[in-house]
Amino acid sequence: MCGIFGIEGPDDAANLAYLGLYALQHRGQESAGIVSWDGSQMHVERGMGHVADIFKVRVLQRLPGRRAIGHTRYSTAGKSVISNAQPIVVNTGTGPFGIVHNGNLVNAVEVRRELERQGAIFQTTSDTEVILHLMARSPRPDPVDSLAHALEQVRGAYSLLLVADSCLIAVRDPNGFRPLWLGDLGGHPCFASETCAFDLLGAQAVRELEPGELLVARRGGLESFRIGAPQPAHCVFEHVYFARPDSRIFGDSVSRSRLAMGARLAREAPAAADVVVPIPDSGLFAALGYSRESGLPVEFGLIRNHYVGRTFIEPKHAIRHFGVKIKLNPVRELIEGRRVVLVDDSVVRGTTSPKIVKMVRDAGAAEVHVRISCPPTRFPCHYGIDMPTREELIAASHSVEEIRQLLGADSLAYLSLEGMLDAVSAPPSHYCTACWTGEYRVPISGADQQQAELFPIRSEEAD
Ligand code: AMP
Repeated sequence: MCGIFGIEGPDDAANLAYLGLYALQHRGQESAGIVSWDGSQMHVERGMGHVADIFKVRVLQRLPGRRAIGHTRYSTAGKSVISNAQPIVVNTGTGPFGIVHNGNLVNAVEVRRELERQGAIFQTTSDTEVILHLMARSPRPDPVDSLAHALEQVRGAYSLLLVADSCLIAVRDPNGFRPLWLGDLGGHPCFASETCAFDLLGAQAVRELEPGELLVARRGGLESFRIGAPQPAHCVFEHVYFARPDSRIFGDSVSRSRLAMGARLAREAPAAADVVVPIPDSGLFAALGYSRESGLPVEFGLIRNHYVGRTFIEPKHAIRHFGVKIKLNPVRELIEGRRVVLVDDSVVRGTTSPKIVKMVRDAGAAEVHVRISCPPTRFPCHYGIDMPTREELIAASHSVEEIRQLLGADSLAYLSLEGMLDAVSAPPSHYCTACWTGEYRVPISGADQQQAELFPIRSEEAD
């Protein structure tokens, strides 16, 4: 779960990268960074927290040059510390490199152990650093060749941007797990995880990189190479939850796919109710789709405080459900005495939903029917979405009826797998559905599996 942006050519490249990252903030709020190349050296600035807090004017002034890439991070592999913030910048025998990565490698631990056996010293616990070590060992000095050499040895999910002294490189893994777009800003090539970043800059979205495509931007031109045959396995969860609804990814508009999921949910799981209430922001578009299809009015019966930071000081006396209350508050007038269909995108650990159901009941709802716009999440993601281990996933060990009871809802229904896949336009075989089905498209190495089980990454946001 990360956002990446890069641009080649304009004289305020870092400033534009900052704006691109600003639009991709939803893809990671833990840390952010930018590296620029000024023709003779790399400049890098990284920090913990939000893009706008890190990149003040004086910080951007320290990032001169016409080539820049940036990253917003939400840790999926490696700890939440500044040393793991990206970009990672290194000097190698073949020149300096800066790299940003969205996705997760599934043999990083294995490769790292082998490299360490050979004497490599790692600076971070991030899987991305493995790629730089492999590049540094490449027999071929050209950055495109050495990156291709490194990528031959890793498996998993990667949408990558790399700055070298001679070029900017963008590459997407052969499965195209994560999105990556090529854009054009006044003749300058730019790259972004999602099209919403181009919209802010006034750049044209040209096309998505193909799975297994490597694009090199240098001397005003673009060259395309292939690093592997495309075997699309796009992450459907990007459509369900992660990407912004005003973006396009994997050939579809995210708002359109989310509306379609909600409409399908209304057909599959109607409810005898008076009103549809979205859980903001994640349930908004599915709720709208549910409302349009069912004919039930949608009401903004829950209001979200958008200014909640990652940490807040709790009062000395315990306030029940404080964590949820600080984010959401019900609008009693819209809920009282009504039978409510509460729509959200997913249930992961099942810690949030019971509190929201309780909140809606306390606000006077006559009934609460929960509808979820994806199937039960039963398996962890190894390709870059922050998901807990199987033990923590509520649907891995509980039936839908048991979850309904835990939630305290009058009814509970999830969208079917077929229904979800019908809402997106490519054939079902072009998507990764591992978190619902357990069908992992790229096998996970034993060492990496062990690591994932020992050190699950916890998401504060989900609580
Ligand atoms: P919970 O069931 O308490 O773990 O919370 C699930 C809610 O968190 C969902 O309704 C989503 O809106 C949101 N969510 C889903 N997946 C993630 C994730 N990987 N990281 C953070 N939040 C998530």
